[in-house]
Amino acid sequence: MSVECEGEAPETRNEPSGKDGAPARARAFVAGLRRSVATHFTSLRSKVVGLLTSIGAVLVAMSGIYVFTTFNQNLAHEADLRAGAARDVLIHAAARVQASGELEPILSAIGNAPYIAEAAIAGRDGTIVASSHAAWNGRSIAPVATTLADVAADRRRPLAIETQRQLTGAGAYDGDYAIWLDLPQSGEQAVAIVRVDMERLAARLTTKAWNTMTWLTITAILAILTISMLVHRIVVAPIEALRDFARNYRRGAAEASQHGDEIGIVAQALAASFQAAADSEARLTNIASTDGLTGLGNRGSFKVQFAGAIADAERRGGLVGMMILNLGGFKDVNDTLGHDAGDLVLQRTADILKGCRREGDIVARIGGDEFGVVFNGIKSADEALEMASRLVRAVGVPFRLGAQELQQASCVGMTLFPQDGRDAEVLMKNADLALSRAKQEGAGACVLYRHELHLRAIERNQIERDLRAAVARQELKLYYQPKVDVATGQITGAEALIRWPHEERGFIPPSVFIPVAERSGLVVDLTRWVLDEACRQNRQWQDDGLPRITVAVNVSAIDLRRADLTDTIANTLIARGLSPQYLELEVTESMVMEDVDTVIGTLRRLRSLGIGIGIDDFGTGYSSLAYLKRFPVKRLKIDRSFVNDIADGREGHIIPKVIIDLAHALGVSVVAEGVESADQFDKLRELGCDEVQGYFMGRPMPPAEFEVFLRNSPAGARRVAASGNAA
Ligand code: C2E
Ligand code: MG
Ligand code: MG
Repeated sequence: MSVECEGEAPETRNEPSGKDGAPARARAFVAGLRRSVATHFTSLRSKVVGLLTSIGAVLVAMSGIYVFTTFNQNLAHEADLRAGAARDVLIHAAARVQASGELEPILSAIGNAPYIAEAAIAGRDGTIVASSHAAWNGRSIAPVATTLADVAADRRRPLAIETQRQLTGAGAYDGDYAIWLDLPQSGEQAVAIVRVDMERLAARLTTKAWNTMTWLTITAILAILTISMLVHRIVVAPIEALRDFARNYRRGAAEASQHGDEIGIVAQALAASFQAAADSEARLTNIASTDGLTGLGNRGSFKVQFAGAIADAERRGGLVGMMILNLGGFKDVNDTLGHDAGDLVLQRTADILKGCRREGDIVARIGGDEFGVVFNGIKSADEALEMASRLVRAVGVPFRLGAQELQQASCVGMTLFPQDGRDAEVLMKNADLALSRAKQEGAGACVLYRHELHLRAIERNQIERDLRAAVARQELKLYYQPKVDVATGQITGAEALIRWPHEERGFIPPSVFIPVAERSGLVVDLTRWVLDEACRQNRQWQDDGLPRITVAVNVSAIDLRRADLTDTIANTLIARGLSPQYLELEVTESMVMEDVDTVIGTLRRLRSLGIGIGIDDFGTGYSSLAYLKRFPVKRLKIDRSFVNDIADGREGHIIPKVIIDLAHALGVSVVAEGVESADQFDKLRELGCDEVQGYFMGRPMPPAEFEVFLRNSPAGARRVAASGNAA
């Protein structure tokens, strides 16, 4: 039976056997070393220095080991040499003396020789007969006989005497040498003894060894330094230059490619590829940051440059002004004269802004018909505004475009660093807010951002949210204000006025929420509802047998520009079953004066439906009276501001009179709004005004109340008639 795939017990696998323990530890050590090298020697330079230093250290260590392991050998060799020299001298001297005692001066000279401690001559019986050390004379070296026998065996060879207790009393001494001496003159035989001073010899050799080591170390250090320098010059420096070049992209190309070797070739190839990449990157950046039509920077590059200007101003202190210039009616230029003409207008504007630019200023096209300008180093908000209005004036100078003479209106929103914000993004948003305000103020306006504009924007957002909800929940109401015929006192019509009962803020006036609805586009739904409700209500009153009246509905500029306005009205009239003669639209004078040709077309279509058109707030919009002829209007409504002063006894009546006469001359009837007193009413009647509307006749009221008012129409009329009688 066999057992397959049976794993080993973990203990068995993990426990290194005694045999495997050492290689495992070695592997661990090598791995640790590698890790340490990888963390500490990251640069090429440190690796080279580390390597050379290690080689030097190993060489010095090996030399040290060699010097100290051969020390004993050298010591013995040196001792042999010294003893051998003394022996040779003694042998030569012995050949000439008569008796061993005569060798005394020779022994004394040998005893004084360097590293020889003592020299002595002993007789055959071992008694010392002459010595360099007087205290030794007469002493016996009897136990040395065996040694002497050895010496006899090889007379020429100096032998170390192993036992010298009798001589020194200090035990065996390595430096003792003995030899047989034949004294040919006397025929004696003697033993010459030489003691080498091993301590001093060892000390000398030790000093020599340390000196050798010191020189070796110094030489190794010098060699490492020299090799390091050479390696650095030949290999490391070029590679480092190459690395720096690769890191810094373009800087250092010349330095890296000056080497004529392979490194230079690599550097040149790198330089070429960097250059190509940099060129195409620069081309792309240029395309991405430039507006193709005007050659100015675009919004993205403007923001970056503006941020740079802010950073500069922050460092050196000072103001930076930023303005957004919007071309008025640019869409109309495109629509009526074509896109090529629109392009020319943009290019002309760009040229003007470039022409007016001071050193350090930034000009860019940041939107379809919007240009941004940064004024650097200005002293005050007034200076910035002055420069902005200079630009607006320059753009507004009349010019020819083909056969046409044009005058380009513009307006400006402006913001200042640091008081309006410290960040390019925030400042641009603030300039945008100021621009919306400038657009409301009209052509030529230069509006400086103020904090309140921002607060107003927050409030607007809140109103917009609430209004959307109110429209969805059908919380809006229509009130009706009567219009009365001056001659008969009869109610001839009513103006439908929208009301918004806000659950927290009470009634919010239309002058607050209608502009918000216009900005957000919500006004389209609003108008649709007002039209529908007014038609429904009017039809209801007619069905209830009340006097037939015309109900006027206010429409906004946005409604007037919508192509589907005529269809919406036609559909509403059909759906509610109301005859068109009972519906009137009120458009303000300023609305019809913008884009006159388009508006005339729309008004004609509406008029052809059979509904009446009244021009509201007449007299406030500076309309060219010449246009009035062309407008298919049924009624002019004199603005409340003129009615206010009409009965003051001075010249307040002049303008209303001109309007009334003019309207009548054109076959248009006149209604005066905001009539609050009998005096005003009387004056208007005197001037020939056809109808009146105002608190004097009746306030805007909810449908039920208006119904009662209409039902009792003669009563209302009586009041008017009574006033007329009184006058
Ligand atoms: P408007 O069309 O000129 O409306 C006349 C405004 O004058 C109304 O203000 C009315 O309440 C007020 N008024 C009438 N008689 C007198 C008077 O004797 N004395 C004074 N001091 N004021 C009088 P209201 O209802 O606040 O509407 C303001 C403006 O809001 C309107 O001016 C109109 O432009 C706009 N609006 C009102 N309802 C609508 C609507 O349904 N759609 C649109 N698009 N705009 C509307
Ligand atoms: Mg009105
Ligand atoms: Mg009005």
